Amino acid sequence: MPDHRPQFDGARVLADLNALRAIGAYKTGVHKPTFSEPHIRSLHWLAERLPEAGLAAEIDGIGNVLGTTTKSGPKLLAGSHLESQNFAGWLDGPLGVVYALEAARVINPDPNATGAVEVAAWCDEEGHFGHFLGSRSYVGGVTEADIDAARDRSSGRTMRDALREAGLAGRARVTAEPGRHLGYLEAHIEQGRTLEGGGLKIGVVASIVGIWQYRIRFEGEQNHAGTTSMEIRRDAGLALARFCVAIDERFPALGGPRTVWTTGRITLDPGAPSIIPGAAEMLFQIRDESPDVIARLETVLRDMAAEVSAQGPCTVAVERIRTGTPARMDASFQQAIETAGSAFAGGRSIRMPSGAGHDAQVLATIMPAGMLFVPSIGGISHHWSENTSDADIVTGAEVFVDACRRLLAG
Ligand SMILES: [Zn+2]
Repeated sequence: MPDHRPQFDGARVLADLNALRAIGAYKTGVHKPTFSEPHIRSLHWLAERLPEAGLAAEIDGIGNVLGTTTKSGPKLLAGSHLESQNFAGWLDGPLGVVYALEAARVINPDPNATGAVEVAAWCDEEGHFGHFLGSRSYVGGVTEADIDAARDRSSGRTMRDALREAGLAGRARVTAEPGRHLGYLEAHIEQGRTLEGGGLKIGVVASIVGIWQYRIRFEGEQNHAGTTSMEIRRDAGLALARFCVAIDERFPALGGPRTVWTTGRITLDPGAPSIIPGAAEMLFQIRDESPDVIARLETVLRDMAAEVSAQGPCTVAVERIRTGTPARMDASFQQAIETAGSAFAGGRSIRMPSGAGHDAQVLATIMPAGMLFVPSIGGISHHWSENTSDADIVTGAEVFVDACRRLLAG
């Protein structure tokens, strides 16, 4: 008797990813900001594919695409996102969505497979309007007032206008049904060089780092850049520059092996060539998987500020404006990915933290969650040249589908 069980199809995975790349193509990548025309077209593209996996498709009132089944048995939620950063890569997001679609196509119609995979594309993971608005809406963390206040960071368009133009205004938002899913699995490109550098094929994400952000403000005295002698200046810009250098001298001895810190924006007030800055501000970020490490670094940061203020001539104030919670990935999910990696990737996998944020950290607040990484060529991401070899894409997909099977089989 011929075997009619649905088979994993790597060529189909590549074809789907290329179909999504063709929507909003930019060089070898895409330009697909949240609620742009190509992004909306991509949401509909997915909604039209989901019935192939026996899933009923819905695009909800915040732009999440959800595919649900009436099949009995355990259900695993899987997905990622379909919008991109501006002029960015083709795989950041779509890879995880297409893997989830493939897993659903292979597992759901199979009478011998336990349970089903339900597919999600979370809206605005890339943060054009907020941060993780789609997945946070699903877990009940977004209010109508949050949506009222959200604006596109590039164009200023309100989210309400964007939703109306996308034909989604007035639709209900779908939220998680407690107990429906045994957990959430997401695949993503690594966006770093750990896998490529180690000749590895699969990253088993152990945790997603927390992000702590600080506004550090320097107060000096604004004055004339020509007539104010160097000895009497209270140059807030110079104090800021010294502070940045001091951070880089003090932090390395106190951080963990993967702690990273970044001064992403500096503003000088008033910021004119002939005026000594009277005030200066830096936005400073620390990322780590351990809250203890962050707590230690934050103490040092505040001590340094107190020292500088005591010495003069400028004062420094440190204000924490974002507190991150690292998300631990579920142990059984890590095990399932690792075992699938042994079966389909020759065991070339490694457990690692994710230095980037992902929807999985939001889903992890309400259900067990796991993440799988595939290699990024040159570690490049958030750029149109972002890429992964076809062979690695297919290997990752096969490992993903197998991990889904294992999780559903319990
Ligand atoms: Zn992403």
